[in-house]
Amino acid sequence: MAILVTGGAGYIGSHAVRALKKSGFETLVLDNLIYGHADFVQPDELLKGDLEDRQFLDQVFQNHPIEAVLHFAAYAYVGESVANPSKYYHNNVGCTLNLLDTMVKYHVRHFIFSSTCATYGEPLSIPIDENHPLRPINPYGRTKFIVEQILDDYDKAYYIKSVRLRYFNAAGADPEGGIGEDHTPETHLIPLIFSVAINQLPHISIFGTDYPTHDGTCIRDYIHVTDLADAHVLGLQYLQQGGKTDVFNLGNGNGFSVKEVIDVAREVTDKEILAIEAERRAGDPAELVGSSKKIKEILGWSPKYTELKTIIETAWQWHKSRFNHETCNQKY
Ligand code: UDP
Repeated sequence: MAILVTGGAGYIGSHAVRALKKSGFETLVLDNLIYGHADFVQPDELLKGDLEDRQFLDQVFQNHPIEAVLHFAAYAYVGESVANPSKYYHNNVGCTLNLLDTMVKYHVRHFIFSSTCATYGEPLSIPIDENHPLRPINPYGRTKFIVEQILDDYDKAYYIKSVRLRYFNAAGADPEGGIGEDHTPETHLIPLIFSVAINQLPHISIFGTDYPTHDGTCIRDYIHVTDLADAHVLGLQYLQQGGKTDVFNLGNGNGFSVKEVIDVAREVTDKEILAIEAERRAGDPAELVGSSKKIKEILGWSPKYTELKTIIETAWQWHKSRFNHETCNQKY
């Protein structure tokens, strides 16, 4: 029996596949490779296809004994979700329904879902715990919020037990190498800072310096991607041991401002990294820091990477290995 990992050729999904294998699980990756990378996956475990295609999904479940599903495949650009909500609702909600319905048909009852701190919206209190009201402020966050509600209904009606993991800011890369953050287009702060460090971008823009934070820039909670991946294995084992449907935050509980992240990246890379103050980016809450007390207590999760510097160091090693080839000496 295999664990089906949708989006397993992506950044977080590929780290989860690695974590599953280390824990002895057999894995199968389903990815359309629009954003995923074929080289992040063993060729013999990749099923290339789209969750939009119900017939394809049916064949996958018919041809492979699947015991549980980890669902990473989703669009995740907040700005794009505001400009093109149709794309997000069809993919993130519609395709998830296709997957869940196929699971119902083939009696697969365990589901681990990539949710997000964007389901909380503008926080009323920090750190955010799982009981904080869910008031997403962009379509991306709403798609994840809707799927969480669908999962409650599918539990009651079809006995699908799910663990929903609300990620804060995933960062870093497995020090063993080979996989890491590589988005096209890249919008995330840490890889963009590194692009400046290797002369592929002229500067990093700081989106907003008038937020009500200690230095005026947004504060985020950065969590190492392998710690995030390990939580999925714990979630799966919890369901296999009869755990009930539940939701858990995944963050480090420490907030860092954009300026602080840039400073740590300067130290790690030993590069100047020109930063320019810019307008706020639409849809960005001032501060997102999570409490992960619940997942520590219930699933026994304990992060290995609690220092931002170490997280950024692993990201830098990956970034250099992936992107710092001959182009690194060419000026933008
Ligand atoms: N950010 C920034 N400049 C950039 C990219 C991001 O100032 O070029 C800020 C962004 O506004 C946010 C933080 O960095 O406050 C983290 O953004 P990222 O896109 O990495 O993750 P998000 O918080 O959107 O999931």
